[in-house]
Amino acid sequence: MAEQTKYLLDESDMPTQWYNIVPDLPEPPPPPLNPGTGQPIGPEDLAPLFPMGLIQQEVSTDSYIDIPEAVLDVYRLWRPSPLYRARRLEKALGTPAHIYYKYEGVSPAGSHKPNTAVPQAYYNSVEGVTKLTTETGAGQWGTALAFACSLFDIDCEIWQVRASYDQKPYRKSMMEVFGGTVHPSPSELTEIGRKILADTPDTPGSLGIAISEAVEVAASHEDTRYALGSVLNHVLLHQTVIGEEAIAQMAMAGETPDLIVGCVGGGSNFGGLAFPFIRENLAGNLDCEILAVEPAACPTLTRGVYAYDFGDTAGMTPMMKMHTIGHDFVPDPIHAGGLRYHGMSPLLSHVYELGLMKAESRHQSECFAAGVEFARNEGIVPAPEPTHALAAAIDEAKKCIETGEEKVILTALCGHGHLDLAAYDKYLAGEVEDYEYPQERIDDALTRLPNLDL
Ligand SMILES: *Cc1c(COP(=O)(O)O)cnc(C)c1O
Repeated sequence: MAEQTKYLLDESDMPTQWYNIVPDLPEPPPPPLNPGTGQPIGPEDLAPLFPMGLIQQEVSTDSYIDIPEAVLDVYRLWRPSPLYRARRLEKALGTPAHIYYKYEGVSPAGSHKPNTAVPQAYYNSVEGVTKLTTETGAGQWGTALAFACSLFDIDCEIWQVRASYDQKPYRKSMMEVFGGTVHPSPSELTEIGRKILADTPDTPGSLGIAISEAVEVAASHEDTRYALGSVLNHVLLHQTVIGEEAIAQMAMAGETPDLIVGCVGGGSNFGGLAFPFIRENLAGNLDCEILAVEPAACPTLTRGVYAYDFGDTAGMTPMMKMHTIGHDFVPDPIHAGGLRYHGMSPLLSHVYELGLMKAESRHQSECFAAGVEFARNEGIVPAPEPTHALAAAIDEAKKCIETGEEKVILTALCGHGHLDLAAYDKYLAGEVEDYEYPQERIDDALTRLPNLDL
């Protein structure tokens, strides 16, 4: 019999609930604080930015939340997504390890981002919101939200980090095809943008700055709300469809993972894959190592501090306890734009502090090498972000050559790299630089963490 490489669920087996890890954790995560009072925020603090449907999910302590039928209908355009076993990569490496990847590049935006863009647009539309603002780094999130907004008849205005606006013109085209309006950030359209441009006209921008711009516009317009593509609890919640499907698909393959490895920017694709497996670890059904991989140029988990910080550069968002390298961090221009956020999901940071997962960092050139090796064997050009996880998966698989261990490795291939080919060009031309983030810059940025002696 031919060896099976692809595991597909029927549409009827698609998850109908999102999984909330919070009630299963041994301790609850620390609450977000109001920047003015230093007190835990209430729903009313978030109401200028988010619809109540999402705020309820943000603070929910229910283990499962039903996915609305209108959202399931859209999910069915590309879900359930496939799980593959990377048999050709295993052979090329000569490893006895079994490497599986859950592929989210089959979505309309080419990444996992529509898993949350669609419910976010849906909950806003049912509450009468007519416009959503957002930021985008690599352009993945902006594309996903523009797509989702077009389905629910909402205007979508996007601030794209300057560096990626210049590097990735086709992302802008895609956002515009879906009906979005795109501005480079910082822009002259907001107070914070004008201020930053006056101080540093040549700034490449950052996610923190772009968030400030999008939040400023949403907070000052009645019918406008803001949408965030990662970091927040409700975003990680929506992404758990990835892990729930993967559990069912690993069962089809007759295997249980020994290692789950994924890339982390704000933590959403990783949390989405890992949380349902951590639930099984906590219940004693599984004993699986969970490993997050971040870029050495933006090392929030491995070198940041666990402290209250703002989600944006201007300090307009609630303060969240998270792994951070400082809210005014401006990253070096690595190609994995989706991994350049100064903070880490507070929920994932908490899970990390509880010792339920590990983290490491990697330089981009070795990640591109892994991406190319993967592409030449598996036929998919990965986005630069998941090549961080692939590099770690390949290293683990190579270790098994000596030990002979048939380790089962599962990774999230959270997006394809069809709009990142300019970055691959640079890599193939030997022009990709590695950046070690200097300790002085971290120490300096941390001196500007919010002062909690209010
Ligand atoms: C946005 C993005 C990321 C980083 O975001 P997470 O919330 O950490 O998942 C990683 N990979 C791809 C392909 C992305 O689009």
